[in-house]
Amino acid sequence: MSLYRLIYSSYGKPNVGYHDLKEIMEKSEKNNNFDGITGFLCYGDSVFLQILEGDRKIISKTYHRISLDPRHHSPELIELTPVESRLFGVWSMRAVNLSDLHSKGVRSLILKYSLSTVLRPETMTSEQCLNFMKAVAVLYEKATVA
Ligand code: FAD
Repeated sequence: MSLYRLIYSSYGKPNVGYHDLKEIMEKSEKNNNFDGITGFLCYGDSVFLQILEGDRKIISKTYHRISLDPRHHSPELIELTPVESRLFGVWSMRAVNLSDLHSKGVRSLILKYSLSTVLRPETMTSEQCLNFMKAVAVLYEKATVA
């Protein structure tokens, strides 16, 4: 067993809303906690961007299960790499809707790590996706403390 990080992106089905995100987060918290998985999930501009951290076999299996979910389509595996430690160790899964965060802050972060202000992970490297997610997590934490 060794610690890995998996990053993927996908596109939400047109009718995905708050109710779905809440349901996904509740289910993820329960399952991931049991599986020793931690991570972070962003939703914005119709895109899901998710990080899963944990045992390689278990996160691969989880990714395959997620990729079959009818609430999204076109999953793309961006990274599967061994890591020294977890970045999101306190969260079995934190789902953040980017439209809940300060719009200017989010748009400038997207622009910082990609070519435009619209989130399009297929135009970003795995490192840019990771740095973007880390920055969103900081923005999210600031927003929830304020
Ligand atoms: P159940 O909840 O009993 O579900 C049984 C089946 O019904 C599954 O095939 C499931 O996909 C489907 N289903 C359940 N609810 C709905 C619904 N509202 N609409 C359509 N189909 C539905 N799960 C995790 O465990 N960890 C994660 O980190 C995680 N991240 C996700 C990220 C995204 C972007 C999405 C879309 C889903 C994510 N899920 C995650 C949910 C995952 O796809 C499965 O739905 C869930 O893991 C199945 O849990 P279960 O085995 O307990 O089955």
